[in-house]
Amino acid sequence: MSETLDRGAASAPIQTHEIIIAGAGPTGLALAAELALARVDVAIVEPRAAQVVEGLRAGGLHARTIEILDQRGVAERFIAKGKRAQIAGFARVALDISDLPTRHNYGLVLGQEAFEQEMLAWVRELGVVVYRAVAVQDFVDRGDEVEVALSDGRRCAARYLVGCDGGRSFVRKRAGVDFVGTDPQTSFALAEVEFGREPRWGLGYGPFGVRAIGPMGEPRRARVVLTERYEGQPRALSLDELRALLIDAYGEDFGLVRASWLSRFTDATRQATTYRRGRVLLAGDAAHAHSPVGGKGLDTGVQDAVNLGWKLAAVVRGEVDSALLDSYEAERHPAAADVLRSTLAQVALDRDDPRCAAMREAMVELLRMDEPRRRYGAKMSGLDVRYELGGRHPLVGRRVPDLDLRANDQVFRVYTWLRDARGVLLELADAPTLNIAPWTGRIHHVRARYDGAWALPGVGSVEAPSAVLVRPDGHVAWVDDGAGEGLTDALVRWFGAAR
Ligand SMILES: Cc1cc2nc3c(=O)[nH]c(=O)nc-3n(C[C@H](O)[C@H](O)[C@H](O)COP(=O)(O)OP(=O)(O)OC[C@H]3O[C@@H](n4cnc5c(N)ncnc54)[C@H](O)[C@@H]3O)c2cc1C
Repeated sequence: MSETLDRGAASAPIQTHEIIIAGAGPTGLALAAELALARVDVAIVEPRAAQVVEGLRAGGLHARTIEILDQRGVAERFIAKGKRAQIAGFARVALDISDLPTRHNYGLVLGQEAFEQEMLAWVRELGVVVYRAVAVQDFVDRGDEVEVALSDGRRCAARYLVGCDGGRSFVRKRAGVDFVGTDPQTSFALAEVEFGREPRWGLGYGPFGVRAIGPMGEPRRARVVLTERYEGQPRALSLDELRALLIDAYGEDFGLVRASWLSRFTDATRQATTYRRGRVLLAGDAAHAHSPVGGKGLDTGVQDAVNLGWKLAAVVRGEVDSALLDSYEAERHPAAADVLRSTLAQVALDRDDPRCAAMREAMVELLRMDEPRRRYGAKMSGLDVRYELGGRHPLVGRRVPDLDLRANDQVFRVYTWLRDARGVLLELADAPTLNIAPWTGRIHHVRARYDGAWALPGVGSVEAPSAVLVRPDGHVAWVDDGAGEGLTDALVRWFGAAR
């Protein structure tokens, strides 16, 4: 991190915000929404002049991301733009999650651009400032604030800077955070092209993995994905290289005319060694990058954002000590490491050499059984994430189920209480006794009844609790052991001292 900033625009006033986010991709937008909901002054700095996504990126959302949007009351906006489908898979086996205990027992086919545009509309409604067509060019952590230099010469200051600036993150590099992991073995060539002849549409596999040609709505316009062994290829893909790969894979180039977009990426799998350095934090692809096989990148970034947002807000509002931010890395680093592992496994299982094919057959046999299908369905759809928060009950650390509770002859859903991104104490006992008056304003206290079964995706039935403390990200922080013990500690740990 540089010690001084270029003072080129020294005469211009410094614009201050509580939080500055570098990058208006899925992660940056999700984080901005969380902070704005928590009434924090947040600005995003984004080099793209418009919310347009070039080429092929994420094609959908997994169930947990839809749940997260539902927690904030905006899921229907996204569902209306996409198409519900069973999209979870592993080892080329489609995993039907329709029997998992969640309202959203499906995925959503929704292109990344459509997702980002709806997120942008939402954060605008929430009053987030977006500085467009400028990048974070430099920053310095002054101990009590971070001063940020923008590429157009303007300067901003904030309590915290969050790098949501993608896999090649400038913020990560400038903060001196290492990005370590597994070097690439497979290279993916991607293109949007026009063919002279009808190509061979559809999905297939070659020695290094997937090959696919999909329609783009106009005759002979197609999206192409081809895999090759990684041998230090440059990132830029030429039309001639694409032609050679097509001939390798299909025996012909289908009269390839031109490409409107060409790109290459690899299965390099890397994770930031730390997610926080002083007043600078990392989230999304800036903190972890992997092959898109399995389609987990966008979801993992959104979950980072939802884990970090309420913690940053509580620190900025002075309710909790900044040490709470350490729990962000403690919880999200292992969660992303798990995603990286399962993605690496999928890349290996995608190859068509005899050893990988034999491994895949073994996996396919397993995944056709109900229990492994449910486990892996929960894993690939993000519904099984569990943070290590202590506590014996299986609910602790997992997302709270969106149950229909009953109070005063009315039925209401648990998630409706999470809309304003505050914590919730659900008291479900016949004779409620808990008192959290000193935390009023920070936590909703809901007294209700629930007589049905409690079940968790990938886990099954669990003992019904008499009270549950839910954090703003929807994860359970505490479950009553029958005597209300440990509640005060949990309240102080996550929401700050009694007032
Ligand atoms: C081919 C492909 C297919 C994929 N398919 C899937 C899929 O099916 N499902 C899935 O979940 N994921 C998929 N992914 C991954 C997914 O696209 C990423 O995980 C997701 O975009 C990460 O979001 P992000 O906001 O963290 O980063 P990004 O989307 O990379 O956003 C980073 C933002 O930061 C901005 N930025 C860059 N530098 C600066 C700077 N200096 N200052 C300020 N801003 C800056 C960029 O302009 C950009 O807007 C795919 C990726 C690829 C490449």
